[in-house]
Amino acid sequence: MMDETNSKAACSTEDLTKEEVIGYLHNLSPVKQGKFFDFQLQSKDRSFRGVCFSPGKRSLFAGLQADGSAVKIKKFRIDTRSNAEDLLMNNNVEIQQLPAAPFPKVDIPSTLTLGMLKSISPGQLITVKAKIIHLQEQKTVKTSSGPLSMIEGQIVDVEGYSKIILWQDFVNKVMQSLLRVKKDNYSKELFVNTAKTGTIIKPSEPFKEVLALAPTFSENVSNVTAAGKVVGIISSSQYLSCIKCNKKIEDDRSDIVACHHCGMKQMKETCDKSYYAQIMFQTEEKENLTITLFDKVIKELISVAGVTDLSGNSFDKLLLDLKNVLITYNKRTKAVSKVNRKVEQEKEVQGQ
Ligand SMILES: [Zn+2]
Repeated sequence: MMDETNSKAACSTEDLTKEEVIGYLHNLSPVKQGKFFDFQLQSKDRSFRGVCFSPGKRSLFAGLQADGSAVKIKKFRIDTRSNAEDLLMNNNVEIQQLPAAPFPKVDIPSTLTLGMLKSISPGQLITVKAKIIHLQEQKTVKTSSGPLSMIEGQIVDVEGYSKIILWQDFVNKVMQSLLRVKKDNYSKELFVNTAKTGTIIKPSEPFKEVLALAPTFSENVSNVTAAGKVVGIISSSQYLSCIKCNKKIEDDRSDIVACHHCGMKQMKETCDKSYYAQIMFQTEEKENLTITLFDKVIKELISVAGVTDLSGNSFDKLLLDLKNVLITYNKRTKAVSKVNRKVEQEKEVQGQ
């Protein structure tokens, strides 16, 4: 077949052929949406994102990652559509440990951003770097293992925020930790808490970036909704972030970009994209509101709209196209947490 022979991407490095790839496993993710997990594969001269759509294989990958030896992976395909060189694999994937190290293993630290929390199934253990911005008073709660002290707080990072519950010894610590994703039975909100075993909380380097605005607890109730439309964009930006350290990358218009923070060179197409927009929203009562949309909300809009190319003015178009919507935003911070399309019942009645 034509496209099988056209493996331009695969031939660009010596340690990746169409048949096999050799490298070290890093940053194996939890199973996401019950469907897949991903990881980074450090090959000889670059790092690939691998995505495996067979959750049952995760324990095999986890064991090999923990072991730390190099592996050889066979039976994958290279996704050249959106993300130039993602290695996609399913149940057929073959992965084997190599007896000798073909090249040195490097350290690839990574943490999950709070913006990604939504895509994680409850019960998974994750690592996040975040800042505690609000803590409630310590409480003692009766549990099946006796009375336990707990404290509820709000954490924030560059992309988003989350409720956090710290149990027992973790009550006063901040933060780079293994946490468990939980789901609130009533509000269905995902949040994180310290796990019974395995949680480590340690101080980390303070954020240099602007952090997301997060409501504090008293403000959670001051989330309000408004119906209306977007009438203008005060400012909007989309930028690339480094695969390794998540920091913003200056786009110098070449195919290969270097991260100013960690120095890693990477293909522009493989970088994550982040979005931000400050917009003017006009309510049905003709009140003009200045509101802010952060990455998480914008990514939801993009996925709902099914847009893949946001170059040119299509990002602004996507925003300006928000008519007849219901927004949920925080009264004080003006940060939007949700955008819903309003059901257009009247139109249906009129048969338009
Ligand atoms: Zn970097």
